[in-house]
Amino acid sequence: MQRFILVVEDNPPSRELLCDWLEGEGYEVFATADLAGAFSAVRRRQPDAVLLDVQLGADDGLELAAWMHEQPALAPIPVIAVTAHAMATERERILQSGCRTTVTKPVDFTQLRQHLERCLDLASRRHQQAP
Ligand code: MN
Repeated sequence: MQRFILVVEDNPPSRELLCDWLEGEGYEVFATADLAGAFSAVRRRQPDAVLLDVQLGADDGLELAAWMHEQPALAPIPVIAVTAHAMATERERILQSGCRTTVTKPVDFTQLRQHLERCLDLASRRHQQAP
């Protein structure tokens, strides 16, 4: 079954690049540029994974991850943070918000593929184990 990925990225060229790559990988993709769009997208249809830009203009993308983490139905959905900051403190903040993992910009697509495959595999196993 085709997996459905939500992309949250405010920079249009970066968003387009991520979407094109994901579609090329065979994923179904929905993209949004801001937090409000991301919240409504998740409510409308649960994605199999989220690619989340941490810096969404004035908004903190991690608000979405933290909110999802608090909802029992949404908490198992893996969120991969995409950040321009490679610092350990930022990474710590990202993981504490509930994100599964991080990739740094510019995105290394080989690394992203590995992260996605690992996250989706874990997510589907968790799903199968659910009562
Ligand atoms: Mn951004």
